[in-house]
Amino acid sequence: MTEIYDVIIIGGGPAGLTAALYCGRARMKTLLLEKATAGGQAATTDMIENYPGFPEGIGGYELTEKMKQQAAHFGAEIQEIKEVGGLELEDGMKLVKVDDIGIKAKSVIIATGAEPKTLDIPGVAEFRGKGVSYCATCDGAFYRDKVVAVIGGGNSAAEEALFLTKFASKVYIVHRRDELRADKILQERLQSNDKIEVIWDSHLRKILGNGRVEEMVVENKNTRDRTGYQVDGVFFYIGSVPNTEFCEGLVELDGREFILTDEAMRANVPGVFACGDCRANLLKQVAVAVGEGALAAVEAEKYIEENFD
Ligand code: NAP
Repeated sequence: MTEIYDVIIIGGGPAGLTAALYCGRARMKTLLLEKATAGGQAATTDMIENYPGFPEGIGGYELTEKMKQQAAHFGAEIQEIKEVGGLELEDGMKLVKVDDIGIKAKSVIIATGAEPKTLDIPGVAEFRGKGVSYCATCDGAFYRDKVVAVIGGGNSAAEEALFLTKFASKVYIVHRRDELRADKILQERLQSNDKIEVIWDSHLRKILGNGRVEEMVVENKNTRDRTGYQVDGVFFYIGSVPNTEFCEGLVELDGREFILTDEAMRANVPGVFACGDCRANLLKQVAVAVGEGALAAVEAEKYIEENFD
């Protein structure tokens, strides 16, 4: 007989791992599928300073690795490098498709997170991995004594720009407005860091180079003047898009493709829940994701009790 899981959790970032922990402790037969390695975007963050319990901060990889160990300890089965290709939702039972096989579950928790957004301008695709990066934690050390640019003005841009000053001799931040979106404490740190220069009111227009990034061209939105800057690397932190393509037509999404749920993390299909950065929520934070993951797990347990013998 084919195995039927109580719950399949799709996505192994903080939301999915917390859901797995709670489902495991509820003695539900739990499978977590992660398309890469568990940890999600948080695992690529050098230092997380606003997750409670760690007054000195904790490395993103270390934190999510502990979450993974904890979920596994309580019985959740975690399978990595398993990308979900589709989902069939009918008659109460759910079929999750992975590697051309279908795995059955009574409930599904979608915790697929989000991917970094990019810009469709000359040079970005051409120089990806050759100076264009979306992960300062992964690539920052390659830029020792070099000049880099960070695109964006949110918390990620600010944090990663600060991180890059550990290596680079200079870090430009290119921001499209005259005010950063980043938290005030991060803005203060940027201001007091001599290596950082913010290029205000400006759009990145193209990236040039010969095999690798050598220059970025930035346009001031008020004057329309274009200026070339010699840079060795360009890091994009302009927000993210949810990993919800496989949900289209199955569960209700908002205008930006985030999954819509009620306050109990229930999507519009019974037995399907969503949590973390893929959900249409108000704040993308590890602290929020873990809370939502816990709630989704508890609600999935209730759903199974009410709908299956
Ligand atoms: P974000 O808050 O959405 O900020 C994106 C930044 O990129 C904004 O400054 C935005 O400009 C800019 N931007 C967006 N599209 C652009 C485009 N097409 N061209 C140029 N610039 C563009 O994204 P994020 O910084 O990745 O953060 C995502 C979420 O995670 C946020 O809720 C954030 O608070 C959270 N987060 C928190 C922490 C922390 O608490 N320490 C760390 C990282 C992330 P505008 O400002 O003009 O819109």
